[in-house]
Amino acid sequence: MIISQQEFLFSVIKKLNITKNILAAKLGVNLCTLDSWLLQEDSIGFLRMPGAIEAFISKHLLCNTGNVIKYSLRDSIAINGKNHLLSVDQFNRDSLEDFFRVTDSMKPISRRQKVSRILEGAVLGNLFFEASTRTRVSFGAAFCRLGGSVCDTTGFTFSSMAKGESIYDTSRVMGGYVDIMVVRHPEQGSVAEFSSATNIPVVNGGDGPGEHPSQALLDLYTIRTEFSRLGKSIDGSCVVMVGDLKYGRTVHSLLKLLSLYKGLKISLFSPPGLEMPDNIVNYASVNGNHIDIKSSLEEGLDGVDVVYATRVQKERFENPMDECFDKRFQIDLSKINSKCKKDTIVMHPLPRDSRPGANDLSTDLNNDIRLAIFRQADNGIPVRMAIFAILLGVDHLIDNSLKDVQWSLPAYIGPDDSPFYCL
Ligand code: ASP
Repeated sequence: MIISQQEFLFSVIKKLNITKNILAAKLGVNLCTLDSWLLQEDSIGFLRMPGAIEAFISKHLLCNTGNVIKYSLRDSIAINGKNHLLSVDQFNRDSLEDFFRVTDSMKPISRRQKVSRILEGAVLGNLFFEASTRTRVSFGAAFCRLGGSVCDTTGFTFSSMAKGESIYDTSRVMGGYVDIMVVRHPEQGSVAEFSSATNIPVVNGGDGPGEHPSQALLDLYTIRTEFSRLGKSIDGSCVVMVGDLKYGRTVHSLLKLLSLYKGLKISLFSPPGLEMPDNIVNYASVNGNHIDIKSSLEEGLDGVDVVYATRVQKERFENPMDECFDKRFQIDLSKINSKCKKDTIVMHPLPRDSRPGANDLSTDLNNDIRLAIFRQADNGIPVRMAIFAILLGVDHLIDNSLKDVQWSLPAYIGPDDSPFYCL
């Protein structure tokens, strides 16, 4: 180093326009250590920064093309300098658009036309302490499709948490085994706690009734894709959210993301006691968006562009309220036909409860082109590939990594898919 260590580090802080705290987090060291590197060489307490750290700064934090710092999507969504995805609060409108551009670049892979190996050698820890089918499998499949491998654990019973191990210990230990983790846990805030014990990226796969950021990203990506086919724009559109809006974490994250758009009319309709929390309604009441609590489903459905139905999260009830979700809350073909437009889309994060008497989203819409739920679930793969590529800093390598696939698949994935194939 021609300049002193102190000058070098201060120039990094200046060029990246970040605080010392953020630089420490990016380097994975505590502030005291960084402070000792920032002292003058003849001061008491001065420590020499390891060569590996200097190399990391030059290779990963500074762009070596003159003094220009390359815009990095990973940096713009970082949380306290760390590359976790814990909440949709980490996005603004620009980073969201950039995120969707990366997602678009993953489409040839999720459609099984191309393969990529940009995550070859990397290992994902898929840690699910709560029930999951789609989220767990699609995160795993997304990682494998980028060339990585997956290790997972499901439920408390088969993990050392059943022996009383803390979130901190579990996280620190897992961080030594894998390169990135997806964590689902029944307590709100638990995934953030998990992320504080490790410098490797942690993705929130659902923290109790808190948030489900990857689901909201794929929901919004679905709305964006369907709207572009229908020639509509998200700004100024009408959305209704129906069902358990209190415990449904997907609607919490989605409502927050929608608030980044302008002039939306959002209607909410839920059984008494299962209303959307006030803090989320207040968060989303910006940019000229209008949020309205409806007193009947028919009123909420009138002329909307998007119907978003959710399952009642009985597993989170203190006292099960079996009767709270009656026919008045059910989205079915007759309600959609009588109140909605030809180009309305019907969404649901799934699973839907199809048991008799459940009154969740009806299966009588299965052959209606407006039902977007399976196209929505399919979008989980490119969205989750984008999350991994961005958090691990390889999103810029995708285009040059694509190769043709060697195998072939049936033309339609599902037996009812042929009418949708043109979409
Ligand atoms: N799969 C979604 C979630 O994990 C929705 C649900 O379970 O109802 O939140």
